[in-house]
Amino acid sequence: MTNQKFEDICTEVFKPISKSYIPMSPEIVQTSSFYYETYEEFMALSVDEKNNYVYTRGSNPTTKILEEMLVKLESGEKCKVFSSGMGAISAAILTLVSQGDHILMLNTVYGETLSFVQYLQKFGIEVTNVYISSADEMKDYLQDNTKLVYFESPSTQRFELLDLAEVTKISKSIGAYTMIDATWASPIFQQPLKYGIDVVMHSLSKYIGGHSDIVGGAIIGKEEIVDKIFECGHQYLGAVNSPINSWLAIRGLRTLPVRMNQLDNSIRQVLDALKDDPRIRKIYHPYVGNDYQKELADKYLSGYGSLFSMELADEDFEKVKRFVNALNYFSIGVSWGGFESLVLPSFKGNNIEKLNYRGLKKSHIRMYVGLENSETLIEDLKQALDKVYGNF
Ligand code: PLP
Repeated sequence: MTNQKFEDICTEVFKPISKSYIPMSPEIVQTSSFYYETYEEFMALSVDEKNNYVYTRGSNPTTKILEEMLVKLESGEKCKVFSSGMGAISAAILTLVSQGDHILMLNTVYGETLSFVQYLQKFGIEVTNVYISSADEMKDYLQDNTKLVYFESPSTQRFELLDLAEVTKISKSIGAYTMIDATWASPIFQQPLKYGIDVVMHSLSKYIGGHSDIVGGAIIGKEEIVDKIFECGHQYLGAVNSPINSWLAIRGLRTLPVRMNQLDNSIRQVLDALKDDPRIRKIYHPYVGNDYQKELADKYLSGYGSLFSMELADEDFEKVKRFVNALNYFSIGVSWGGFESLVLPSFKGNNIEKLNYRGLKKSHIRMYVGLENSETLIEDLKQALDKVYGNF
């Protein structure tokens, strides 16, 4: 019989469980804060929350394991994980730029990213978004106050690559930071830090999570830059990844190389089957890009991501709807990078101006090839095209 009071039993702070076991899978350290045996210990550790465990809004041991894995995969110095890709993007950009600075956005980027930097204009930050086909062209848009050059390679919706080493060289010549959203290729197929990019961002919600069950983000780069982003963007905005989501992302990383290799195989087969089909006007993906795009792919990608887009032969949106509704293995839904194939027409009824801005037609459809059998997917695509256009 214990003579502890109920309240005291319920509020007992436990010492760490003795290490009489070693779990194969890392522990989910689901705690908001950490306690100390002495105040001296607390004082010594709490001055540096980025490197010590004080409060999970700063650092957490499960999240730390994920960060260390991502650092190694990207050949970086440090990583910070966030509760979403947008959390990572906004925290990094807010840290790197100040009032009066200029951000140069290259080519198409994820829509929310573009909206976010445009929103920053109200705080006196200038933004230009330019469409270029080779890095050299960006020189025309640099300004004395350009502080950040931001891009994706390949780019959202148009899936066009840029020469990473060139972008870096030109940006560095005026002292601007470079930041890339590298979600499409994952760290398995592209490591931008090797070419001098300052900050690499991944949405963990896509390939890294890989099971369509988490939202998360990460930035990786030099320690000095990532620490700065930790102190400002991460700590002030508070887009903190939960330990359980970090654990799920670690679980996703276990199979990332295997999944990426299968997806690389599948996307090549699917695009081979579609690229000469007269019912498709255009496919956007580096595997079927022009010679320059192929040259860049050889230089920078060791495999292909499986997100692409295409336009049907004509612009009739009724045909787009018929095609999408006829697919059996491509679910209609947002996001991508999970196990399941997805389809999403880019026209939503109210965004024609945005499509025009990106040079896209109403018949533009984003497709994600998942982990299903590639022949099943090809048959599915062909039967859906048959339903719209008839056999050919
Ligand atoms: N970058 C790309 C290329 C994306 O497709 C997305 C999400 O769809 C994001 C960033 C944003 O990531 P999250 O949804 O994790 O905030």
